[in-house]
Amino acid sequence: MQLKQNNLCVQLDELKRADLYRSRRVIESGQGIYLHVDGRKVLNFCSNDYLGLANHPDVIASFKQAADKYGVGSGSAHLVCGHGREHHALEEELADFTGRDRALLFSTGYMANLGVIAALLGKGDIVYEDKLNHASLLDGGLLSGARFKRYLHNDIDNLRLKMQGMAAEHQAMIVTDGVFSMDGDFACLAALAEIAEQSKALLMVDDAHGFGVLGRTGAGLVEQCALNQQQVPLLVGTLGKAFGTSGAFVAGSEVMIETLIQKARTYIYTTALPPAIAAATRTSLQRVKQDGWRREKINSLVARFQTGAKQLGLSLMPSESAIQPIVLGSSDLAMQASDDLLQQGFWVSAIRPPTVPQGSARLRITFSALHQEQHIDQLLEALDRLPGSVK
Ligand SMILES: *Cc1c(COP(=O)(O)O)cnc(C)c1O
Repeated sequence: MQLKQNNLCVQLDELKRADLYRSRRVIESGQGIYLHVDGRKVLNFCSNDYLGLANHPDVIASFKQAADKYGVGSGSAHLVCGHGREHHALEEELADFTGRDRALLFSTGYMANLGVIAALLGKGDIVYEDKLNHASLLDGGLLSGARFKRYLHNDIDNLRLKMQGMAAEHQAMIVTDGVFSMDGDFACLAALAEIAEQSKALLMVDDAHGFGVLGRTGAGLVEQCALNQQQVPLLVGTLGKAFGTSGAFVAGSEVMIETLIQKARTYIYTTALPPAIAAATRTSLQRVKQDGWRREKINSLVARFQTGAKQLGLSLMPSESAIQPIVLGSSDLAMQASDDLLQQGFWVSAIRPPTVPQGSARLRITFSALHQEQHIDQLLEALDRLPGSVK
C-alpha cells in the first residue's frame, strides 16, 4: 500500500512538472457574467451557460415550486418509482421540440453517451468516431466492445476510407459531436448523414454545445442543418449547458427509445434526476424557444470579438459558435495566459492535453447572451496586454 501511494505521488509530480496538473477554484457566487473567486469578482468567459439561464428567475421559481411539491430526491431509478410527472412531461416536450418520436432523460450527458453506444453496439460491430469527439463518446465506443475506429477531424474522405471493406453484416455507428466542444466548429452533418445512409450505419450526434444555441428555435445544429430523425436517428442533447440546469436526453424513434429503456445500463442502474430539475428544465425550454434574442446576442458578440481579435492580430480558430479558442501550443503558455488574465479580472480557462491533442493547449473563451459589448472590448484589451510570448 505504501509503495502504491509512492507511485501515485511520483505520477502527480510528473503531472505538475508537465503543467498538466488540474485543480479546482472555489466560487462563492452563483453562475453569471461575474463570478466571485479568490476573494475577487471576475468576468466569466469560461462557462457553458451560453444563454444565461442557469440563474434565470423563472427557472429558479419553477425549481422551488417543484421542490415544495415533490421534495428533493427522486427516490429511485426511472424503472422503479423515480419516473415522475415532471420527467415525463419534459421528455414529451423535448421530443416535440426536436421533432423526434420520443426522448429519454439521462442523469448526465456523460452517462447518456456511454449508455447509448454500449446498448446498441457490441463485439463484431464497428464504431467510427471523429478524432476530436468528447471523451464520453470515445469512452462509450470503447465500453461497447465494438471495433473502434477514429477518423480525422471532420474529414469525410478519411471516414470513407476507414469505412471501405466494412462487411455488410456489421452493425456500424458513426458518432460525432455537433458543435465540437473544444474547437467550436460544426460537424459536417449533412455529409455524415449521407455517408451513414449509403453504408447503413447509424448516425449519432451529440449536440451538447449546439442545443439551445443554434437553429431558428434553438433545437441545435440538427435544426440548423434541417436533418430529420431518419437522417440523424440518435440525437443527444445536454441540459447542463445552454439550458442552465442538469442532465441530458436522447431523442429518436419509438423503437430506439424503447431499446434504450431495456438496455442502456447508465439509464437503468442510476437514480433519476430530481423532479425539480426536470420542472426547471421545462421552464428553460420555454425561454429557449421564446428568447430568440439570446441566440442573436451571442452571434453579435462573437462577431464583435472576431473583428476585434483580427485587429489585434490574434489568431482564432475557424469557429462560428460561442466557443472561441485561442491555441497557444504548450500547456505552460496556456496556463500562464489563463493566470495572467485572472490577475486582470477575467476568467478564461486553459484547456490542456489530454482534453485536446498534444501541442494544442489553448485558451477556451466562451460567450453568454448576458455579456455586454463592453465586456468583449474589455476582454480584447486584456488579451492585448498579455506578454508577447503568450500571444
Ligand atoms: C459536456 C459534454 C458532455 C457531458 O455532459 P454532462 O451532462 O456534463 O455530463 C457530453 N458531450 C459533450 C460534447 C459535452 O461537451
